[in-house]
Amino acid sequence: MVFGKTSPPVPQTIAGYKSGRPHRYDDVVAELLKHHPSADVDFLAKAYAFGAKAHHGQIRKSGQPYYSHPISVAFILASIHLDLETVAAGFLHDVVEDCDVTNDQMEKLFGPDLARIVDGVTKIGKVKFNSKVEAQAENYRKMILAMADDIRVLIVKLADRLHNMRTLHFLPEHKQQRISRETLEIFSPLAHRIGMSQIKNDLEMLAFYYLEPDAYRQLDQQLSGRERQNRKLMVALSKELSERLAKHEIQAVVTNRVKSHFSIHRKLQTQGATLEGIYDYYAFRILTESIKDCYTVLGVLHENWQPIPGRFKDFIATPKLNLYQSLHTTLIGHNGIPFEVQIRTRMMHQVAEEGVAAHWSYKHGRLMSVGQSNYSNWLKKLASEQGEIKDTAEFMETIKDQLKTDEILVFTPAGEIKSLPRGSTPLDFAYLIHTEVGHSTIGAKVDGKMASLRTELRSGHIVEIMTGPRQRPKQEWLKIVKSSSARNKIRSWLRSEERKKSLELGRQIFERELRKYKVPLKSVTKDLIQSKIKDLGVSRLDDFYSAIGFGKITPVKAVEPFLPEGAAENKDEAATESRLMTAFNRLRGRSQQMVLVKGQHDVLVFLAKCCNPIIGDSITGYITRGRGVAVHKTDCPTLVKMGINPERKISVEWDRSIEKQVFNVRVKIFTDDRPGMIADISHAISDTKTNVLRFKADADSEKRVGIFDVVLEVHSLDHLQKVFRSLKKVKGYLNHERMG
Ligand code: MN
Repeated sequence: MVFGKTSPPVPQTIAGYKSGRPHRYDDVVAELLKHHPSADVDFLAKAYAFGAKAHHGQIRKSGQPYYSHPISVAFILASIHLDLETVAAGFLHDVVEDCDVTNDQMEKLFGPDLARIVDGVTKIGKVKFNSKVEAQAENYRKMILAMADDIRVLIVKLADRLHNMRTLHFLPEHKQQRISRETLEIFSPLAHRIGMSQIKNDLEMLAFYYLEPDAYRQLDQQLSGRERQNRKLMVALSKELSERLAKHEIQAVVTNRVKSHFSIHRKLQTQGATLEGIYDYYAFRILTESIKDCYTVLGVLHENWQPIPGRFKDFIATPKLNLYQSLHTTLIGHNGIPFEVQIRTRMMHQVAEEGVAAHWSYKHGRLMSVGQSNYSNWLKKLASEQGEIKDTAEFMETIKDQLKTDEILVFTPAGEIKSLPRGSTPLDFAYLIHTEVGHSTIGAKVDGKMASLRTELRSGHIVEIMTGPRQRPKQEWLKIVKSSSARNKIRSWLRSEERKKSLELGRQIFERELRKYKVPLKSVTKDLIQSKIKDLGVSRLDDFYSAIGFGKITPVKAVEPFLPEGAAENKDEAATESRLMTAFNRLRGRSQQMVLVKGQHDVLVFLAKCCNPIIGDSITGYITRGRGVAVHKTDCPTLVKMGINPERKISVEWDRSIEKQVFNVRVKIFTDDRPGMIADISHAISDTKTNVLRFKADADSEKRVGIFDVVLEVHSLDHLQKVFRSLKKVKGYLNHERMG
């Protein structure tokens, strides 16, 4: 809808408004000094000058120099009592976004406080509101709160938005609509949440004006008609109220207030009420000096006018979550017309109008930073001045929840908002989108740039996931993800994979064992197996195999029912076959497997990391859950300590036919602490023609010993022992320890 020539004027709004001419620097200084008399004006002047230079030559849609906007924002901030840094940030809030000024420059010139505020405002400005996802307005609000970790960031953003709304008539209609909707859905509720009711009302009023011009005009006419009718009545009532209070010697100021167009409009819509049914559209406000007076005033009113039952509310005893405090009551006038009265102290009034911003004005001195402790101090101070204030803890919690939330909000490339626990990574995000997306993640883009899967996401990030058809979840992923849902999905995939592998491993072990006894595989049909496995305590073929793979059924027991009489005699020949198979497998390129599991050569085998066995060490195999056979040194402490299930032990031996294997062994050598020791140890090792991968020398000066931490490349245990013999010849050698 476009306003014609008869459209009503842009509604007059209150917060930081100065009619007649654009705001000037002097206005800002005067306004700041009103509330902060000792503010550092030089600092403000510096910020002003920097902004003026940065925005030089830029023009707004209104035809005014661009800089008129930041000046107005600074003025609004000064008028609602914000501190020096915040007001200065008003001058500079657009320079990083629009003028190629960097955040580092800001910090160097104006300090970390101001730089952080501008940075926050810039970041929020980059969040693109997607009107298609209106249902997510609450998430947008949360996201902005999460991004504004200093509450002043949000206040500057609100002042910025208020001034943009005031100058919206210069923009084309589609922009007016978009910006107004965003204001109504995102910003005015945020202003409400932190208790800044004046800014909230102004924003709503302007948004209403642009979004529903017809309804606005109609209501505007109705209200002014009604006001004309009732004016005499209200003036008389106001006078009577003042007189009654004076009679009781109560110091109080009576004012009247008209409920904002938008809130009346919303009431009419949501409650289906008529204008006549809205009691509080025209109300009186009585400001007192103390809480005691509030209740005295209430008593006086209820004595003289009939209160409407159910309309009395005590927000002093129970403040609203945004700290609003007041007594509300609705009375029936002598002519039968109801009117609402709000009673509160001046201080409560300031908090009601300015919300969180109000607390700066109670601080003496120049500035306070915005840590949680300052909020608490403010509230404590408020509490002591007000005598009593309840439920501040609850208020604190809400603000804290919003500011220091454990949740972050990020965007999908389509503009949808997703919530994740703080510390989440792109991998968490991928699993949140879909389990299959998570499983096949190969990379991620954050804000359009390639990013590691370990990147910690922050509110406002746009995250894009790249997938690959061959990607599979990995054990390490469990360390990358933060959300429990992602972790559970990875775990369950790994578990099912483990089961699949165990099943395959079990099948392999079973078949090799049969071969060892020269039992033709063809003769052992599935049906035959099925008929015999009940005795082993399993019912399904898959369970049979995985029981072998998991080591619950030993290979010997597994094949027993299928062996012909006297099969055991064929065992030696089975060993011959296995050597042939080894050679065969080597040709097939499986020679990396240095360990021969006795009789079973193509099962998965790996060297245990805990003891790092090398050729020559006495070894024992252990059937792991789904990862194949782990080969430990027989005396490996881990193997002993684990209280190993003997059923899962399997005998293994080194495949000596594979030549020139290389093992890395870590050794600690202890010696006397004497000059030349490093060179001697180093020579002793190199004399044995051994590669040294790491050589670290240290001294324990207290015990007067030298400690060498070395990693050697050896071919066998014989080789390693040769190194040890050479070391023992070094003068001052004490002993050594093979690690792992
Ligand atoms: Mn701006």
